Amino acid sequence: MAKRDYYEVLGVEKNADQTAIKKAYRKVAMKFHPDKNPDDKKAEEKFKEAAEAYEVLSDENKKARYDRYGHAGVDPQSGGFGGGGMTMEDIFTNFSDIFGDTGSPFESFFGGGRTRRSAGQKGSNIRIKVSLTLEEIADGVTKKIKVKKQNACDSCGGSGAKDSGSVQTCGSCGGSGYVRQVKSTFLGQMQTTTVCPTCNGSGQRITSKCTKCKGEGRALGEETIEIDIPAGVEHGMQLSMRAKGNAGKNGGPSGDLLIMIEEKNHKHFTRDGQNIMYDLFLNFADAALGTSVAVPTLGKPVKITIPPGTPAGKIFRLRSKGIPQLQGYGAKGDQLINVNIWTPKTLTPEERTILEKLRDSENFKPEEGKTQKGFFARMKEMFE
Ligand SMILES: [Zn+2]
Ligand SMILES: [Zn+2]
Repeated sequence: MAKRDYYEVLGVEKNADQTAIKKAYRKVAMKFHPDKNPDDKKAEEKFKEAAEAYEVLSDENKKARYDRYGHAGVDPQSGGFGGGGMTMEDIFTNFSDIFGDTGSPFESFFGGGRTRRSAGQKGSNIRIKVSLTLEEIADGVTKKIKVKKQNACDSCGGSGAKDSGSVQTCGSCGGSGYVRQVKSTFLGQMQTTTVCPTCNGSGQRITSKCTKCKGEGRALGEETIEIDIPAGVEHGMQLSMRAKGNAGKNGGPSGDLLIMIEEKNHKHFTRDGQNIMYDLFLNFADAALGTSVAVPTLGKPVKITIPPGTPAGKIFRLRSKGIPQLQGYGAKGDQLINVNIWTPKTLTPEERTILEKLRDSENFKPEEGKTQKGFFARMKEMFE
């Protein structure tokens, strides 16, 4: 099904400011709030649709992408929740400022214990750095990284219980994990279902704890994680892998693994966005006579022709030999080759004689700024 326009979903004009967008979302969210429309699938869809629209329009970056490219600009691979991937829990957690009650705003929502909340505490995120060569960045790479982390206890499977006989049904909620309560919310007085405070929503009571993890459900260990790094990443960029962080306490959800990208220095190249730059050194004779040289690239070396009379500062371009755009469907940058003239520091007597003869030739007097431009003149032109 085609997605509706986000502005239409919230009922605001394209030029609406953040205050108006927030107000509009609040209105739609209240109208279709699950507490007001119990067991109404259509209302739930509308509620999710509005949350998705707000998630994009309330973020200036995503809003700009959406304004320019429509839904395609904010779909999942570009980091949006687009595609309706938000769960109710996501919605209440992300927009707790709208729903108030910062503690656990979603507690007032789940009617009848449709989803049993996991009992434990969420595990923390783990941050790691991954150093990549330019070649790895150009092609994309899968890295296997050993990460020290809290894993679910292999003896109890994360439950924290000694065995299946030591897990009993919680007496307070009868095993549902939820208890009914009359609560004041911003929508007025209503009967709500909240997570059972006795068992924390697990519906279970543990009578004797796992001896290996002492009931915590997790233990410090190591895991080798395969990380798929797409081509075109940049130094300082952060990738994340959901639920690959520390295991939660007592069977709680795992945290995320956050991967910071570092770019290693390259012995030949300097990177400038998607282009890579290479300094080529030619001696004066080759520059004047012309030659052909093999130049390194991120792949195999490439032979280029140096025409006679090539000046220092001449830039050759190897198209599509640079770095691909991240998720750019194969669009690649170029390799730029800057010609430098290499000057020998010492001379043999024979070389000295030849050069002294050349020095006096009329053809060797520089014509400043006429046929060849110097570095500063070229820089000035570039920035004009
Ligand atoms: Zn255990
Ligand atoms: Zn309970």
